[in-house]
Amino acid sequence: MRILIIEDENDLAEAIAITLRDSLYAVDIANDGQTGLFKSIEIDYDLIILDLNLPGMDGLQVCQAIREKKPDVFILILTARAETNDVILGLDSGADDYLTKPFQMGELEARLRTLLRRDLRTREPILQVRDIRLDPATRKVWHKNKLIRLSFKEFALLHYLMSRPGEVVTQTEIIDHIWDEEVDLFAVSVRVHIHNLRKKFRDSENPYIETLIGQGYRLITTLEDEKD
Ligand code: CA
Repeated sequence: MRILIIEDENDLAEAIAITLRDSLYAVDIANDGQTGLFKSIEIDYDLIILDLNLPGMDGLQVCQAIREKKPDVFILILTARAETNDVILGLDSGADDYLTKPFQMGELEARLRTLLRRDLRTREPILQVRDIRLDPATRKVWHKNKLIRLSFKEFALLHYLMSRPGEVVTQTEIIDHIWDEEVDLFAVSVRVHIHNLRKKFRDSENPYIETLIGQGYRLITTLEDEKD
């Protein structure tokens, strides 16, 4: 679990970081809004602790900007402004929870645990077939531990094949699951996307996707399969 603290009072930020590192979280600190926003976008944090009163870019603006780029990250607002208005604005700006200063470290940790547990319950597990790994939550795909760039449709197609490893999946099933109702069936070419996936995974050396003429496609789960 990696956490970012965006807080201009460095003593407080350090104190929170020490406590959280003791609980085995990885913790980074940003002392102003711009730096915090930059880090939030560059690095995949699980959770961001965000102070509202920040020099330069206001905490609420930072919150909105993070939310636009990172819809899944948890944001917990820290605020000295006890007014209900600020809390409402914070939650409306995309924060998941808030804590009013001064607070007990124990309470902060309890809030974090609750948020992160919620995450573990809702997050789909990472799928793995041979040396391909796919994380539905972050939409990332690795091949032999290398990150692979896929288009939206290629990702959706691979996700679907990986959710049914070793099974024959028909072209109709793929279209039903991946394209929405507006789809122009003549414009859709599952074959083209399959071809692109094969290229990206160097399928010619080491086949991953089998074409069964007149039936569909199958993700090959074991090397033994390839000899069939
Ligand atoms: Ca502050």
